[in-house]
Amino acid sequence: MKQQKPKGTQDILPGQSEKWQYVEGVARDVFARYNYAEIRTPLFEHYEVFARSVGDTSDIVTKEMYDFYDKGERHITLRPEGTAGVVRAYVENKLFAPEVQKPVKVYYMGSMFRYERPQAGRLREFHQLGVEAFGSANPATDVETMAMAYQLFQTLGIKNVRLTLNSLGNTESRANYRQALIDYLMPLKASLSKDSQRRLEENPLRVLDSKEPEDKQAVADAPSILDFLDAESQAHFDAVREMLDALAIPYVIDTNMVRGLDYYNHTIFEFITEVNGTDLTICAGGRYDGLVEEFEGPKTPGFGFGLGQERLLMILEAQGIDLPLSSGLDLYVAVLGEEANLAALNLVQAVRQQGFKAERDVLNRKLKAQFKSADAFSAKTLITLGGSEVESGQVTVKNNQTRAEVLATFDEIVADFAGIVAKLG
Ligand code: ATP
Ligand code: MG
Repeated sequence: MKQQKPKGTQDILPGQSEKWQYVEGVARDVFARYNYAEIRTPLFEHYEVFARSVGDTSDIVTKEMYDFYDKGERHITLRPEGTAGVVRAYVENKLFAPEVQKPVKVYYMGSMFRYERPQAGRLREFHQLGVEAFGSANPATDVETMAMAYQLFQTLGIKNVRLTLNSLGNTESRANYRQALIDYLMPLKASLSKDSQRRLEENPLRVLDSKEPEDKQAVADAPSILDFLDAESQAHFDAVREMLDALAIPYVIDTNMVRGLDYYNHTIFEFITEVNGTDLTICAGGRYDGLVEEFEGPKTPGFGFGLGQERLLMILEAQGIDLPLSSGLDLYVAVLGEEANLAALNLVQAVRQQGFKAERDVLNRKLKAQFKSADAFSAKTLITLGGSEVESGQVTVKNNQTRAEVLATFDEIVADFAGIVAKLG
């Protein structure tokens, strides 16, 4: 049976997976410093979890959901994003209870699924690192969360990431702006793309987010949401800007950035970087003070972001950043003949149990091929094990680089491999 992976999916093979692990390790480390703990929620949820929160008229819900009816006739969706499931879990597990320390800060990493047209940096199964903080309306939370993403990029050595900032204000500000935007766009309706003509009816802010050239042209002179912020919204936005300045995190304001999900209010942001001449958003997020209530939890402010792992790796690649990935084998055992099979097994096991990375030949190959393997695995030391070594109970341990050698008994290796390696210099 010849089979191919589904369109828009990827196999992450050895050689590549080390990079994923490295990036995830750095992210865990950075998130832990900000007192985030991991949460793992299901890869699939009831359809309503996303339909309600992400927004009935959003591209994600109208076009991109992987939804189906299971054998029990339940309407199920593979998660297209991480926040809705985490909010569902927050409410279902009563993390709002007074005995749970606030803010509740959680991160996740894993697959997301969207039925999109696959292209560079856009897949149908992709991976996100995401974080959510519940229970703080303090603009300092907005800023420390953006600073955390910024610190992650810096730690990975990524250069030229631009923080783009905007505010959607509170519900009242947004409603006032919505009307002004409709008034502005209505006379231009005929010039908009089909999608945006629909958006104008359902969710006019979305028109600002369109990537179609005709839409971009139409919204170029649109009123700015920042002119519609009420006092509370303005104060929040000003505080965020002051604190970003205080931390010396550079940003630009883009009043046409509105984000593709319906649940945001106040601060929204993207980290954008250029890859091969085009702008790519790697990380996007914002404040969602109404979302916990949507899930019938108590009124709880929230803030979070999602960061695309494929795009992050693309940028690391494009910027030629060398990741400090773990190095090769500590020991390779070349095996000569059936009579050395068991001794080779014992030897590598003893070395592995002492915490070293060891491999042996299991394919009965010619020595030359085995030595090639030792080189391919960047083995630091090499032992050749045949009938005579088994008989004498003694082997030569060789430094595979300097060719320095030392004689050692099996017992010595079992007792203290590190000591033998030390003798090799
Ligand atoms: P875009 O405008 O690029 O479609 P989006 O607004 O749909 O992005 P979000 O839903 O905010 O993106 O997701 C957060 C991040 O996840 C994005 O900034 C991006 O890095 C990544 N991402 C989103 N969709 C995909 C995809 N189909 N394949 C790979 N990464 C993705
Ligand atoms: Mg999208």
